[in-house]
Amino acid sequence: MIPYSVGILFLNNSNVCRRDEMTIQYLCRHCGTSIGQIPKTKVTEQQLGLHILTAEEREHIISYDLEGNMSLKVTCDYCQQMLSQNPELLLLPGYLQ
Ligand SMILES: [Zn+2]
Repeated sequence: MIPYSVGILFLNNSNVCRRDEMTIQYLCRHCGTSIGQIPKTKVTEQQLGLHILTAEEREHIISYDLEGNMSLKVTCDYCQQMLSQNPELLLLPGYLQ
């Protein structure tokens, strides 16, 4: 079971990203919604819990863009709820990206 909620608690802080700052962006892997972002400089991988992920999980969750911004693909509250009510959705082809 991949911990999709990795680091999500940091989103509740009132962190405002400066325009020139590298960010960590949280996106929902299912619906693509932007859940939030935090300045990369403010947290470490340890704080986010990323260091406990296996190489495979990291590949699944973490991606980088050309500017070095990090994206973490997680599951938003809405999709989490949908999936807990309809677990068979996970079996649909193309549902998981
Ligand atoms: Zn979603």
